[in-house]
Amino acid sequence: MEDDRELGDMLAEVFVDQGYTVERALEGQRGLHLALSRRYDALIIDRGLPVVDGLDLLRRLRRQAVAVPVLMLTAFGDLADRVAGLDAGAEDYLVKPFEIDELLARVRALHRRNLDQAALLPLGDGWLDSASSTVRLPSGEQVTLSGRESRLLHALAARPRQVHTRASLRQRVFDGARTEAIVDTYVYYLRNKLGPGVVRTVRGVGYRLGEL
Ligand code: CA
Repeated sequence: MEDDRELGDMLAEVFVDQGYTVERALEGQRGLHLALSRRYDALIIDRGLPVVDGLDLLRRLRRQAVAVPVLMLTAFGDLADRVAGLDAGAEDYLVKPFEIDELLARVRALHRRNLDQAALLPLGDGWLDSASSTVRLPSGEQVTLSGRESRLLHALAARPRQVHTRASLRQRVFDGARTEAIVDTYVYYLRNKLGPGVVRTVRGVGYRLGEL
C-alpha cells in the first residue's frame, strides 16, 4: 500500500520479478478492504497514506485479528516513529529512502517467519496441518502423524526449497537427542506413512521436502 505511484510501480515490478504475486492499493481505505477480505503472505504499508493512514490502517487490521506480517515504510526515522509503528502491530519497519535489496531481504524474512508459525502448510497438492498433526493427501485421505513426525515435516515444508542438514534438523526438531541418526529414523517413519517421495535425500548434505 503506497500512494507514491512511481515508488509503487517500481516496487511492484521488483517483487513480480522475484516471483511474488503483488496487489496494490493507492490509499488506505482500499488497502484496508483488501487486507480484510483476502489472504496475503505479507503486507508492505506506507505510513503516510491518504484516506486512512498507515498506522490507523494497521491498528484496525490487528483489532480485527488479521495476523498477516506487516512491514511499515515511513519517511520518518526517529525512535518515537519506530515505536509507534511497532506498537500498532508492525513486525518490521523501514525508513525511506531505502535500498531495494534490503526491502527484499526483510520481506523474505517476514515471509519465512510467517511460514514457521503457520499451522497449515502446502505439501505439493496436499496439506500438513501441524495443529492436529495430520496430513491431507491430494486424494482427500488423511494420515495422522506423531508429534515428532509432524514437527520434522513442518520444518521441511516451511522452507520447501531449502536443503536442511541433519544437524540443523536434529537441533530444531529433536532438541536433546544425542545423535543425528534420530533424523534418519523419523525420515524413515514419514516415508513409511506418506510414501517414499515425501522427503528427498540430498546426498552428503541432508534432506529437503519432496512430493506426496
Ligand atoms: Ca506516502
